Amino acid sequence: MFEKILIANRGEIAVRVIRTCREMGIQTVAVFSEADRGAPHVRYADEACLIGPALSRESYLLPENIIAAARKTGAQAVHPGYGFLSERAAFADRCVDAGIAFIGPSGEAMRAMGDKTAARRAMRTAGVPVVPGTEEGLNDDAEAVRVADEVGYPVLIKAAMGGGGKGMRIVRNPEELASALRSARSEALSAFGDGAVYIEKYLEDPRHVEFQILADAHGHTVHLGERECSVQRRHQKLIEESPSCILDDRLRAEMGTAAVRAAEAAGYVNAGTIEFIVDRNRNFYFLEMNTRLQVEHPVTEMRTGLDLVREQILVASGSPLRFTQEEIPFRGAAIECRISAEDPDENFMPSIGKITRLVEPGGPGVRIDSGFYRGYEVPIFYDPMIAKLIVWAETRDEAIARMKRALSEYEIGGIKTTVSFHLQALSDARFVSGNYTTRFIEQMTPGDKQDAPDPRIAAAFATLVKHRTRKTARPAGSSGPSGTEFSAWKLAGRRAGLRK
Ligand code: ADP
Repeated sequence: MFEKILIANRGEIAVRVIRTCREMGIQTVAVFSEADRGAPHVRYADEACLIGPALSRESYLLPENIIAAARKTGAQAVHPGYGFLSERAAFADRCVDAGIAFIGPSGEAMRAMGDKTAARRAMRTAGVPVVPGTEEGLNDDAEAVRVADEVGYPVLIKAAMGGGGKGMRIVRNPEELASALRSARSEALSAFGDGAVYIEKYLEDPRHVEFQILADAHGHTVHLGERECSVQRRHQKLIEESPSCILDDRLRAEMGTAAVRAAEAAGYVNAGTIEFIVDRNRNFYFLEMNTRLQVEHPVTEMRTGLDLVREQILVASGSPLRFTQEEIPFRGAAIECRISAEDPDENFMPSIGKITRLVEPGGPGVRIDSGFYRGYEVPIFYDPMIAKLIVWAETRDEAIARMKRALSEYEIGGIKTTVSFHLQALSDARFVSGNYTTRFIEQMTPGDKQDAPDPRIAAAFATLVKHRTRKTARPAGSSGPSGTEFSAWKLAGRRAGLRK
């Protein structure tokens, strides 16, 4: 078993991984950028290494800096969390080449699943249904026109290397196709360094249902049930729950089996997620595989009682799975709300600043995975999600009531957050009935929340960003952890070990 693990991430997920390591008696190394000197993950880990300036591409996204930090601290394994380098096959390979275990799948499995067109081909071969469309990158517009005619409008253009909803365009008629292809290609090129796009049939009013899988290096793969993730804004999840209201036992078994088959076809080892889209007639189709721990993994943990990070670490250290499919318990209902530093009344504009007041919910069945504390300045450089609130209860109705109770206890002062939005969403009759689709938010909010931000607000924000960048570019050491506002984290007693 590993004695020391480096967590190549920040925020709530870094803290969450460190917690499991601590329970397992494993030493932890945090990495941090100059903007994160006072961040919770830095305070909580046993050691911490500065890996560069605030911008992710100069710190959290630099494989050589992470590997150097692992070497310097003697970490035997790297946990990548989600985002950042977690799905970079070359990074996984480099860790292994440097003699450091990567807590996740092999670079090869990531490559097989990272290119969505290749993944679609692999799934079709494995007998897993895929959304009708192309299985190769589109070479020219004429081919796009032909395929779109074949599958029928509306169609969805997607980036082959896509993620985070980028490079996606809905096309409702042939006239829109050429310009949508152009803009999708250029967005894909700038976001992923690869402009390849493909076409899928656009399903109206679908649901996003995904299955958590876990596979060891000894040929065992199981699924840990589903997560319903249809509450989305701009194709990004905001609320997740399990079980999904649209699955009955038969469909659940069918999709679970397909998910296991999909993972096996990719030769996949470690934790992963098979995402499906389900149409009105309850036909399900493979969307993509996420080759990492998901943001919403706590929903599965609450229902099964398993700690997915522990399972990931065990699998990466060569242990076989400790249970069969039949032995996995599923109990009750779990819901997760992603809490972001965004203003829901201002089109989800990022809201940054110092947390001046904090009252966290508690009580039965409530879990908070968070990456901030009172007195912490939320940096502008990273994802606005600052915490996840997760609840569990015997039934879905009780879980909704519990989540509303917990949300109403949550007080975060100094910045705007999405807490109020979640309260509204959970009170919506469609959410309560369970009969909702990926268009839920669009239909819920008066006015179009899917619009691009108002240019005036964007300009004001840009000025603020500039100002903040100047403020954070202080000499090293000037903004180290004060240790005064966050006594709980001091228990870890890691400050003595802080490495710069
Ligand atoms: P990304 O990797 O960029 O997040 P996904 O393929 O996972 O892209 O899709 C993200 C979301 O976009 C889905 O959860 C769903 O809401 C929507 N979506 C994707 N494909 C389709 C489709 N063929 N029809 C309708 N909606 C889709």
